[in-house]
Amino acid sequence: KREGGEPTNQRYHALMMFTKVDRSRSLQDKFRLAMLSMVKHGRFLEGEVLVLHFVSDQASQELGEKMLQEFLVDATFKYEVLFHDVVVLTQKLFPIVEAMQKHFSAGSGAYYSDAIFFLSVAMHHIMPESLTRIVQLDLDLKYRTNIRDLFQEFDQFPPGAVIGITREMQPVYRHTFWQYRKENPQTKVGEPAPDGLPGFNSGVMLLDLEAMRASALYNQLLKPSNVAKLTDQYRFRGHLGDQDFFTMIGMEHPELFYSLACGWNRQLCTWWRDHGYGDVFQLYYRCDGPVYIYHGNCNSPIPDD
Ligand code: UDP
Ligand code: MN
Repeated sequence: KREGGEPTNQRYHALMMFTKVDRSRSLQDKFRLAMLSMVKHGRFLEGEVLVLHFVSDQASQELGEKMLQEFLVDATFKYEVLFHDVVVLTQKLFPIVEAMQKHFSAGSGAYYSDAIFFLSVAMHHIMPESLTRIVQLDLDLKYRTNIRDLFQEFDQFPPGAVIGITREMQPVYRHTFWQYRKENPQTKVGEPAPDGLPGFNSGVMLLDLEAMRASALYNQLLKPSNVAKLTDQYRFRGHLGDQDFFTMIGMEHPELFYSLACGWNRQLCTWWRDHGYGDVFQLYYRCDGPVYIYHGNCNSPIPDD
């Protein structure tokens, strides 16, 4: 409590994309596992509130509200639920990210509806100034620890860092940067950790919105001319949205990113092991140390323990 006696109500903001969930039993099951495990391990202090943001369409929101009533009953902490209309956010986002979409989206055109896959990239311009930090989380996660501990990682950011993110655990960017790597045989681009630069995975992201707004460098990199310059330089052509953008600018400016421990986003997808990269796969996939969050990406099953 502050001096006046009123509760401080420190708020912890977490955002999840939540579209077309009404049409997918698989997404509903992932959502259930994510929320039940988050609630099971979640502990907050008196006066603290976990604010859950969902970016959603009307039908998904209606289902989500019902499901959340069930999933949140055992929560030992205060929480708030906020739904954001995906159409409204897309409208705000499109002018900012339109130019980068063609470099980092599937297919040839830049579809208006794909803009939402770049929400994290421009979140600092979309959310109100009063929102200074937010964590963006996939739905296909299983929490094994208190999500409050994830927010403590913001305090570890070195000066200049704007985003906290875990490395990608498959050789996907070894593949994407194939041409650049051929022309630059000594490069660390696309090489495995700890010495290489394997790129990032966007399943768990700490967005320091205040730092993103304040960073002249980061906002320069958002400009279409700079995106074109870097995609040229790295011969980059991807289809994974925000994580492609962060991966590419991270090759040039690693200081913008705080490297979250691999256990905060322990990805389980092994697709690239069986598609030409079996020889190097384990160099990327290995993650020593405790697993705080499992990420069942590419529909991978998540262990029961
Ligand atoms: N998502 C969604 N609706 C969809 C597909 C995806 O809201 O129809 C969201 C959801 O939050 C999901 C995230 O987008 O976790 C990223 O997709 P996914 O986790 O399936 O990708 P992967 O991690 O397997 O690459
Ligand atoms: Mn995922």
